[in-house]
Amino acid sequence: MKRRAVFPGSFDPITRGHENIILRALPLFDEIIVAIGVNIEKKNYFPLSDRLAWIKQVFAGYPQIKVDSYSGLTVDYCRQVDARYILRGLRTSADFEFERTVGQVNKKLFTDLETVFLLTTPEFTAVNSSIVRDVHKNGGDVGLFIPDGIILPARL
Ligand code: ADP
Repeated sequence: MKRRAVFPGSFDPITRGHENIILRALPLFDEIIVAIGVNIEKKNYFPLSDRLAWIKQVFAGYPQIKVDSYSGLTVDYCRQVDARYILRGLRTSADFEFERTVGQVNKKLFTDLETVFLLTTPEFTAVNSSIVRDVHKNGGDVGLFIPDGIILPARL
């Protein structure tokens, strides 16, 4: 069976931190699905179609990386695509506390599923999508925080 992992998140937008985790996880899995979780109650900043297109662009040269979106529970999506691993990045102890709860609940809901955590490379600890959105909203240069080649639309 293929070792398939789902990397779930909002990716609003994808950052160099996400890119780093995905590329470092590549040797661990046969396939990684970068999956944007769509929550109708959560207002996103960038449209889903743009967020998907940017991730596809970043990983265009990697056939083992797929890009998708889903709604509902992440564990149900994992079952649907036959993935036995969830990939997550850990930046801080706050991330750990949050991830511990989600990971333990997911394990209860889907016993055969394992969550695999990679520690952030130190220079990416401060990089997150909400900082990128703030800088973008205020007309700053987000180029240092997002993957090469991604051009965000002018201020929304
Ligand atoms: P969420 O919407 O759940 O906050 P994100 O889209 O922000 O998720 O991130 C998805 C995953 O990427 C999470 O596991 C998060 O910890 C990880 N991640 C985000 N930014 C970084 C970073 N700078 N370094 C490492 N991992 C990161």
